[in-house]
Amino acid sequence: MFLEYFDVKRTDWSPQTVATMLSRLQQSGYQGLTIDVHGLLERFVQPRADRTLDASLTGAEHFTEILIPPAQPRTRIILHRSAQDVARVVVIGRSQHDVHTSMTAVKMHLEHALGAKLKDAITDENGRAGINRFRRDVLPVLGLLGEGRPSGLRHPDGASLLKSLRQQPAIRGKPTVLTSRVGALAPDRPAEQTRDALEQLAADGVVERWNVVMCREGGQWLAVSTNADQVKAFMASNVACPHCGRRVSDEQTDTAYRLGEDGQSYLGDNRWMADLVETTLRKLGVEAVTVQPGGKTLDGAACYHGAVLLFRAREGVPSAADAKALRDDARKVESKDLRAHAILVSDQPVPDEVKATGITVVGGVGALEPALAEVLNSARLANLQTLLPPVLHPVAVSLSDLLPAEQPQTVAAS
Ligand SMILES: [Zn+2]
Repeated sequence: MFLEYFDVKRTDWSPQTVATMLSRLQQSGYQGLTIDVHGLLERFVQPRADRTLDASLTGAEHFTEILIPPAQPRTRIILHRSAQDVARVVVIGRSQHDVHTSMTAVKMHLEHALGAKLKDAITDENGRAGINRFRRDVLPVLGLLGEGRPSGLRHPDGASLLKSLRQQPAIRGKPTVLTSRVGALAPDRPAEQTRDALEQLAADGVVERWNVVMCREGGQWLAVSTNADQVKAFMASNVACPHCGRRVSDEQTDTAYRLGEDGQSYLGDNRWMADLVETTLRKLGVEAVTVQPGGKTLDGAACYHGAVLLFRAREGVPSAADAKALRDDARKVESKDLRAHAILVSDQPVPDEVKATGITVVGGVGALEPALAEVLNSARLANLQTLLPPVLHPVAVSLSDLLPAEQPQTVAAS
């Protein structure tokens, strides 16, 4: 279930205004519960010429309308008065795309019906107010400074590539791979893509790049340099290969990528995992994410649909103490009257005693995305509960109109 919503503040939410809005939507092909109920009334109460839609809405101050948009029949739009001067529009659907499309269309119709720029009247949209509060009040309490990713790996798969690179044989103390072998780092994708990613990592300074001259026959390395011009000069010389006797100009060249000092330390703390959590959250549509790996109890936090997600990313087997410390941080957030989800992510299977702490635990990076998707879904559902009224108030009907009007009696002569 996905949702988008906004609140419109306006002093005039008279029945006439609401009726104008609903009529406009109906004319545009929207099916509406209130509109339909109003149409049905005639069957149950006295027919009255003056029973217009706005008369039916009079007195229904907290009316709720449920609409089915013509173009996305599988989404629902709920419109209700959440306060005296505030109307709330909530769109729910099975996919983010459907929801967004329906929201864009309904905004256009409302703007037209209200005759005013909606943008200026919207007081909250998709929990933006909550995100501001998260940045202002929650992050400092958690000891997180603010938005950002200090490490600066720009490639989304950077962390997993560095990890694979770390498994490669070391040359002069640093794990190294030749361009001709980069396919082995990520067997499930074209080698070309992996090489581009390594170039990006070299530009970010976490991977070192060597130009290598190799013996065509035995594969021995004859010379290396970070400077391409120096390798060219060497190739142009009359020097011969000690192994096969060829002139070096006839030998082959390659590029070697090596895990640099910065790359080592990036993997040394849990930063690569924290990055993975961040990348996955953003991919799933979470905008407000703050990552600060290396903290005592947590590595980052995010705000999503009014809930604060706190996470810890651990390389290796996490302990129950890790989980409890994270849970305590979550309680700090809850004491500020906010919903909190604590998530402990490990690249290893998680022991039962850690699971028993009651927080969300993810054992293995492969399980990360589905686990986060589930947490986000429950955050959306919980938010929906707070956004909608518990019961439906459709139209107001005067019960005095229930009985049909009395027919004049004709008395039969006896
Ligand atoms: Zn040779």
